Amino acid sequence: MSTGKVYLVGAGPGDPELITVKGLRFLAQAEVVVYDYLANEELLAHAPQGAERIYVGKRGGVHHACSQEEINAILVDKAAAGRQVVRLKGGDPFIFGRGGEEIEALVAAGIPFEVVPGVTAAVAAATYAGIPITHRGCTSTVAFVTGHEDPTKPDSQIAWDKLATGIGTLVFFMGIKNLSSIMARLEANGRDPATPVAVVRWASTPEQQTVVGTIRDISDRVREAGLRPPAIIVVGEVVSLRDRINWFERRPLFGKRIAVTRSRAQASELVRQLEELGASCFACPTIEMRPPASWQELDTELDQVSSYDWLVFTSANGVELFMSRLLERGQDVRSLAGPRIAAVGEKTGQALAQRGLRPDLIPEVFQGEGLVASFVGQGIAGQRFLIPRAQEAREVLPEALVAAGAQVRLVPVYRNVRPQGQEEELRRRLAGKQIDLVTFTSSSTVRNFLAMLQPAGPDELAQLMAGVQVASIGPVTSATARQAGLPVHIEPPQATIEALVACIVRHQLGEDSGG
Ligand code: SAH
Repeated sequence: MSTGKVYLVGAGPGDPELITVKGLRFLAQAEVVVYDYLANEELLAHAPQGAERIYVGKRGGVHHACSQEEINAILVDKAAAGRQVVRLKGGDPFIFGRGGEEIEALVAAGIPFEVVPGVTAAVAAATYAGIPITHRGCTSTVAFVTGHEDPTKPDSQIAWDKLATGIGTLVFFMGIKNLSSIMARLEANGRDPATPVAVVRWASTPEQQTVVGTIRDISDRVREAGLRPPAIIVVGEVVSLRDRINWFERRPLFGKRIAVTRSRAQASELVRQLEELGASCFACPTIEMRPPASWQELDTELDQVSSYDWLVFTSANGVELFMSRLLERGQDVRSLAGPRIAAVGEKTGQALAQRGLRPDLIPEVFQGEGLVASFVGQGIAGQRFLIPRAQEAREVLPEALVAAGAQVRLVPVYRNVRPQGQEEELRRRLAGKQIDLVTFTSSSTVRNFLAMLQPAGPDELAQLMAGVQVASIGPVTSATARQAGLPVHIEPPQATIEALVACIVRHQLGEDSGG
């Protein structure tokens, strides 16, 4: 058996997108992934599904899941057994990451390896706090320093006298516990006590928190703010540039904690948009799409689909499941040459276009009601309509079509079920006032959200939702929410995800300026 190989990969500081292209490629091919708590767990989703995932912990004393020797042994054993191993480490593997020790163990065992650098927390913390780590005319040197060492110990390996005045920007890792003695050391060795200092926790993530002060007062300020590790300390004149450059924390939704109730499959686009604006999203899927109990009804209609005048899609999900069944049965888009095709809105239209089908009709108003108006205007008496859709959908569209004289056949292509498992977490976060805003993108997300929450009565619901804003995608969803006792604060003029996000931002900015 040939030996495997170990890839020591820098995961970056926290934002999972800050891994390198090369690191991501190795991760995507890994058979074993060995990771610790500073490497964002979201990255693990990029490893193949069958890959073995080994958490080796390490959290400054509290949480030692594995000793360094044990980690070394895991790497050696897995590679010796012929596996491709990715050792994912927070930031850069060789900057206070003990990567060197792991590589020495591999060298000793004759295991091939490769090292992929990462964006270190030192650079990320400064950048994401709006601090250029060097600046012309201000700083020409930088030092990365461990703050783990107690500076009051006589055997300190750090030349504090040289460091304090010899280097422009000082960046300390692991220094929160020793913050006040580090600052005292710098001052005692001649650094101006008025030098600006920034402490940045969970840099590059939506939870990022920054406290700014001077060598003299930073430790009081950090204590007042209750800031805990992991954090980076940046000392130097460059910190004063933050006033102008701070970009990350000034994004409109920074610090907003938003619960997203869409299905996991559909949430990602909304989550991405909200997070790009600075929000911290809690994915709380209230619906999950499943195939219908049987395909029989759809199969029957697919055999005679050319006899229909109209094929009407009311969601992108409907398109996806309809088309995948069609292909699964050995048919292809040519079977759909007969009927004309309508889509309820833009997203549904795009889903069709992606499959090579250009809708003949998309109404101006993105809702069942919009479709009804478009059809009725055309005169549809006697025409045959096939509507593939969710098992539990609204009746507005079919009823109106029938009233206008059409023949309507409804077939289920999926059903929505409520996923289990997040109920307690949702309740805990609401009760703990850890959610600022909840988004609802359909009536079923509202109903299932309440079913997950199971409030004892209207009073408890009001208590849990006190201070929480409700953003609803459109009037139908809002009506469901209001009926259920949830006041709606945000509703965009158009029922699209983009409009919903824009409306949340507008609302937020309005609130900020309104005080
Ligand atoms: N190899 C890592 C550092 C590991 S030492 C790197 O290059 O970034 C662990 C220390 O890194 C923590 O105590 C903290 O000081 C710092 N750190 C890691 N991730 C951080 C983050 N997202 N925000 C702030 N500090 C972080």
